[in-house]
Formats: sequence, structure tokens, C-alpha cells
Amino acid sequence: MRNKDEAVVIFSGGQDSTTCLLWAKKNYKKVYAISFDYNQRHKKELDCAKEICKELNVEHHILDMDLLNQLAPNSLTRTDIKVDTSAPTDGTPPNSFVDGRNMVFILFAAIFAKQRKVSDIITGVSQSDFSGYPDCRDVFIKSMNVTLNLAMEFEFNIITPLMWIDKEETWELADKLGGFELVRNKTLTCYNGIEGDGCGNCPACKLRKRGLEAYLEKKTSVHN
Ligand code: ZN
Repeated sequence: MRNKDEAVVIFSGGQDSTTCLLWAKKNYKKVYAISFDYNQRHKKELDCAKEICKELNVEHHILDMDLLNQLAPNSLTRTDIKVDTSAPTDGTPPNSFVDGRNMVFILFAAIFAKQRKVSDIITGVSQSDFSGYPDCRDVFIKSMNVTLNLAMEFEFNIITPLMWIDKEETWELADKLGGFELVRNKTLTCYNGIEGDGCGNCPACKLRKRGLEAYLEKKTSVHN
């Protein structure tokens, strides 16, 4: 028997996963948020995640995943590696990409979910923002879903509410779900570890800001 009233959200405390958490809160009776501690450069990410879960009254679990950093040190975990400001032109992913990270996160979320007979796993990956991360693509998610089902003999359902929408539409969705201010002020997306509107200069901030400005402009023009 699968428990369809509950869902597990892979939750980093950033804009995308917080929007997914709001979405899940609307669609399920009970939501579990799972965050991963992989010794990320900014521990503040986990503090933000905790704070948001408290505010939304969501059961929060933090799993230790330091092994990932030991295997694949990268610019998101090591302060001596500078974060790429844009995707390299040779088609390889930017150095903020961590090999296997999303796959490992989804796998552990699935193990956690199955223990509770929960089939629905929600992740905020998106193919629309051209991050260059191969494990954010829809084809990977579909393949991972099949693999999980075969590996654990269980009918998982990986749900990606943001897969085909861009940052502007992600802001719009957060607003529709009543979480615009929460996402704007309490989430951490910035590679320099500054919450809310962030440093304004890193690739993550620029992407977030462009989407926000586009959304606010659209909103104003609709109301006038
Ligand atoms: Zn920034």
C-alpha cells in the first residue's frame, strides 16, 4: 500500500526547493523536508532550511552526506575553488556541478520515503534555466524514477513542479502559493552565502534577480 497523502521534498533552503515545499504543502496532508549536509561552503544554507521548515510547520530531517564532498570536492564546498561565473563554452558543466549529487539526493530521499510507504518525491530541478547540470534534465529524472522502482520494488513518483518553468514563473508560482515574501526574504540562493536578495553579482543571484524583475514588471503591468 502506498501512502498518497504524504510527500517527501528534497529541500535546500533555496528559492526553487522552497517553492516546491509550498507547492507540496498545498497538495499533501503531510510533508517531510529532507536536507543534506555535505559540508557545503555556506552552512547558512542549512540554517535557512531549518528556519523555513519551522515557519511552515514542516517535519525536517537533515542527512549527513559529507562523503559526497570527500569524493568530489568542488566550488560549492571548497573556498579555494572559485565558482564559475558562467557555463564553460566547451559544453562541460560549470565547476559548481557536483558529480552525482542530485542522483544521490534522490536515492536517499527514496529510501527515506519508502520507510514511510510514501511514493511521491518532489524536487525543484529545472531544465529551463540552462544551468548546464545534466542531472537536472527531465530525461535523467524519468530514468532515475524507473531505476528506483526496479531497485526497491516500489512505485515511486518523482514530481518536478519546476521542470518546464523559468525563474520568472517560479516567482509567480511562489506568489500564487502565498509564499512570495517568504521566498524573497528567507531563502538562500547566493553562492556567496547571503540570504534574500543576496550579493547580486554571482551567477545564482543574477539568474534569481532577472526572474524577479521580470515577474514584478509583469505583475505591475497586469494590475495597471
Ligand atoms: Zn550572490
